[in-house]
Amino acid sequence: MSAAEGFLYDRDMQASTPGVERASAFRTYDPRLEPIAAKVFAQERLSADDGLALYGSRDVLAVGWLANHVRERMHGDFTYFNVNRHINPTNVCVAACKLCAFGRKKGDPAGYTMTLEEAWQTAASGYSEAVTEFHIVGGLHPDLPLEFFLDLIYGLKERFPKVHIKAFTMVEIAFLARRAKLSVEETLLKLREAGVDSMPGGGAEIFAPRVRSIICDHKIDGEEWLQTARTAHILGFKTNATMLYGHIENDADRVDHLLKLRALQDETGGFQAFIPLAFHPENTALDHLPATTGLTDIRQIAVGRLLLDNFPHIKAYWQMMTPKIAQIALRFGADDLDGTVIEEKIYHDAGAKTPQGMTRKELCRLITEAGRVPVERDTLYHAVTRTEDSFTVAV
Ligand code: SF4
Repeated sequence: MSAAEGFLYDRDMQASTPGVERASAFRTYDPRLEPIAAKVFAQERLSADDGLALYGSRDVLAVGWLANHVRERMHGDFTYFNVNRHINPTNVCVAACKLCAFGRKKGDPAGYTMTLEEAWQTAASGYSEAVTEFHIVGGLHPDLPLEFFLDLIYGLKERFPKVHIKAFTMVEIAFLARRAKLSVEETLLKLREAGVDSMPGGGAEIFAPRVRSIICDHKIDGEEWLQTARTAHILGFKTNATMLYGHIENDADRVDHLLKLRALQDETGGFQAFIPLAFHPENTALDHLPATTGLTDIRQIAVGRLLLDNFPHIKAYWQMMTPKIAQIALRFGADDLDGTVIEEKIYHDAGAKTPQGMTRKELCRLITEAGRVPVERDTLYHAVTRTEDSFTVAV
């Protein structure tokens, strides 16, 4: 069975993929990594202490080697990407998170809110690449009711019935529910009826209350984020999960975050991909902090792959990491590069110097030159096969 024949995550298929680096080839000068390597080769679960050792090790190449071993055991050389379009309907937000360069207070001249017509037009621009996914996130607008977002989604589905709609972070869903005086479950059911197919993973940041109270104190807390994701998973939605790193958190906070995600995944199985996101300080209230370095970015990918043994995919989000670091991450545990994006606002407001979008051809070149095999997927990791003017999804 090849990736193009169906669902792209199949442990049995991937376990037999040739080319997995052999355990006997593992070398490290850090003795703390030896027992961790033994667990990895035996496919045993790593502990919180193991996570701290992985973060603390100076032998980052050995950490990456182990993560790559797991990545190849699960996916061989397959590396996934999709053709998607980001839509950010508004940057007006009540939360004022210190980590954010995107949100604007109501009345701020730099604030914007699309009309429904503008949002649908934004969706249509860039559609020539046969987009398979709309990725929709935005600010917590004080005046836009749930009905606005339901109309937005109804209108998108009417105009683009084949496009998967991945919309609204757990933070947005909890906010919309509160505003509409509905439960999270009721809100999710309404969103599903309108056409929302799955959810992205944003807003998780770092769950540790000490950190969260400083970087995003107006947002839902970590427990509520997890509970909202739990409810979505119980209703059958697939979601992703992120972790924002490189600000004031420490290694213990990162490990705690990852293990909380792992515990929820054990319970629901609803997460598809883990996406570590580097903090970009420019234009935020924390702009005195330095930006992350390449090795820190690479290590997040590797530790994520090793601790999150029940997550099918680890995504190197090229918009945030830069295409060059994301490409290297494909050898450090990542198996997904996200998508073409077309127009990214959130990281670019925070000073990201990456292009705002990439073509399918450019993404394939990045993957191929990393010695991997590009596989275009849809949002739910079904292979997409294209002809000149149409595409089909293997289900
Ligand atoms: S991170 Fe999200 S919730 Fe916080 S201010 Fe920015 S847009 Fe608003």
